[in-house]
Amino acid sequence: PGRLAGKTAFITAAAQGIGRATAEAFAAEGARVWATDIATDKLTGFHHKDAIHTRRLDVTDDAAVAAIAKEVGDIDILFNCAGWVPAGSILDTRKADWMRAFDINVHSMYRTIQAFLPGMLAQGHGVIINTASVVSSLKGVPNRAAYGASKAAVIGLTKSVAAEYVTKGIRCNALCPGTVETPSLQDRLQAYADPAAARRDFVARQPMGRLGTPEEIAALCVYLASDESAFMTGTTQIIDGGMTV
Ligand code: NAD
Repeated sequence: PGRLAGKTAFITAAAQGIGRATAEAFAAEGARVWATDIATDKLTGFHHKDAIHTRRLDVTDDAAVAAIAKEVGDIDILFNCAGWVPAGSILDTRKADWMRAFDINVHSMYRTIQAFLPGMLAQGHGVIINTASVVSSLKGVPNRAAYGASKAAVIGLTKSVAAEYVTKGIRCNALCPGTVETPSLQDRLQAYADPAAARRDFVARQPMGRLGTPEEIAALCVYLASDESAFMTGTTQIIDGGMTV
């Protein structure tokens, strides 16, 4: 039996990058997976397609989150992966982008946790993994004001949920990656005047001299979702090639 045999997992932003790799890794370990994303056209071609159910979900839509939680029913694992990376200093971040960063990165978790936590409490167990970043309360970097602030809020939310429900069978940990090779990173690099130079700069942030892979992050998510991490809650799991050393 796999390390997540018999468990049901719900994932936001599972069409590409870390969310997709984690959907595959959870399924490979025996979980039944609900893989959701706003981009339904990319929610296809999973290797473990028998174990992975796909649904459209926009995490900024209150009613849609409530409706899908009703359809899915009880889950063991909630992996909040949806996130958005706006560029900009505090001075050049437009208010709409600031609000959108918090809506996708933080308020999304308010919605999904409110929707799924009551079922977890009723069954007496549940695991929540919230995707933050090392760019958060852990580290500041230029050009990421709204992103860093919103990811710091994710860590605060994670700790408050962990503290509130620690005696109720609920564990809640924050995932804090360094720079990971994903489709959106490609998009961010293309936004620079010299994408090749920007890529060298992003790689150089990790003293290991490379980017992380979605599969490396997924392996940590499997551990956090499994009973192997039963003694861990409220933590910030740094996986960053040494970026914060
Ligand atoms: P990505 O950015 O390449 O893909 C993001 C996915 O989110 C896409 O499939 C997109 O369709 C989906 N999405 C966007 N808006 C949505 C919405 N409103 N509702 C539902 N889905 C929506 O993926 P990634 O780079 O693996 O990032 C995943 C998470 O990891 C994010 O929270 C990100 O902030 C975090 N993270 C990424 C890195 C990195 O270097 N890639 C580093 C640290 C943290």
